[in-house]
Amino acid sequence: MNKLTIRDLDLGGRRLFIRTDFNVPLDESGRIADSSRIQAGLPTIRYALSCGAGVVLASHLGRPRGRFDPGLSLKPVAAALEAAIGRPVEMAGDCVGEAVERQSSELAPGRVLLLENLRFHSEEEANRESFCRQLARLCDCYVNDAFGAAHRAHASTAGMVRFVGGGAAGLLMERELSYLGKALERPDRPFVAVLGGAKVSDKIEVIENLLDRVDGMLVGGGMAYTFLRARGVEVGKSLVEEDKIPLARGLLRKAEQAGIPLVLPVDHVVTCELGSDAPSRVIPIGETRPEWMGVDIGPETRSRFRKILSTAGTVLWNGPVGVFEIDRFAGGTLSLAQAAAASAATTIVGGGDSIAAVRRAGVADRITHISTGGGASLEFLSGRKLPGVESLSDRA
Ligand code: AMP
Repeated sequence: MNKLTIRDLDLGGRRLFIRTDFNVPLDESGRIADSSRIQAGLPTIRYALSCGAGVVLASHLGRPRGRFDPGLSLKPVAAALEAAIGRPVEMAGDCVGEAVERQSSELAPGRVLLLENLRFHSEEEANRESFCRQLARLCDCYVNDAFGAAHRAHASTAGMVRFVGGGAAGLLMERELSYLGKALERPDRPFVAVLGGAKVSDKIEVIENLLDRVDGMLVGGGMAYTFLRARGVEVGKSLVEEDKIPLARGLLRKAEQAGIPLVLPVDHVVTCELGSDAPSRVIPIGETRPEWMGVDIGPETRSRFRKILSTAGTVLWNGPVGVFEIDRFAGGTLSLAQAAAASAATTIVGGGDSIAAVRRAGVADRITHISTGGGASLEFLSGRKLPGVESLSDRA
């Protein structure tokens, strides 16, 4: 990576602004439903404190659309953070303004100040210069550790950096960029991408960019049916994006010309009605009747995918290969999680459902890197530049 990281900064006695991703899911009573994102931010915070920095933490939470919303306050995060790092976390009443500036100016080394939700101000997402300057007044140096928000050019993720005189990547950001970057630039081969999820249209650019880099691509889930239709296969009521069939045909041709196997399901689990108790059965893809829809990959496909993963050098997986939310159609996705874990390859898993699958299969600790970036990971894998990374200082 050609960007500075937090380890390049001299932090002793300085006030460090860390843009974190504390956008945690909340339950109906406003409690944190899953603290993974807080956990993921801890190494950078602990590192900064151990270097003697005073730490100003900033994040967004949910979509308050530029207005104060007590239900989207970061207060619950402050409490969880305090418990996790074992020292007090001072909660600011806002993220900009005189009171916060005073709090940050008095911040002693080893102390932590958590700013209130950045998105209570519309200027954050608008990347308004005056707001960038206000944020910059709270610190002496800047670190971005919010990989999940790095595809956004907002005030806290990109705009404020030049007013602080540059910025560096946090440890989480560095880890994400190094794993995803290595997969794109110099993967251990064979490099196999496994793509699933509902629609081709959501991942067109990812598929296009990866086709130039992988040694094989396995496609499952809803998106496989648009490819199957492009090959002229009858798929019944399965999810097909009719208007994307020509594009899928183009991608199949591109893969064929490049000599890259693009592997589609050969059998699947079908049912007549999703979300009902309608019976399901396993059939070869070619025997699909008009009233059936495919909801999971079948055993023969699972076994083919497993075999390919077992000899891969790098596996990149994003998206479920079936309707994973419904237990009886989660088998293919869970078996893929097992196959990824069993492979000796460097395995990188991203996307909410795929991450949930490796956790549910109990194999998360056997995956090399779980990418929590969501949209940011997909943009990175599409080959796009991320504003939250571009704004950081280049290594000399
Ligand atoms: P994505 O957000 O693009 O990763 O897509 C995830 C969604 O794809 C999940 O909600 C799955 O239920 C859905 N999905 C996976 N396989 C299928 C399928 N065969 N038919 C319809 N939806 C599917």
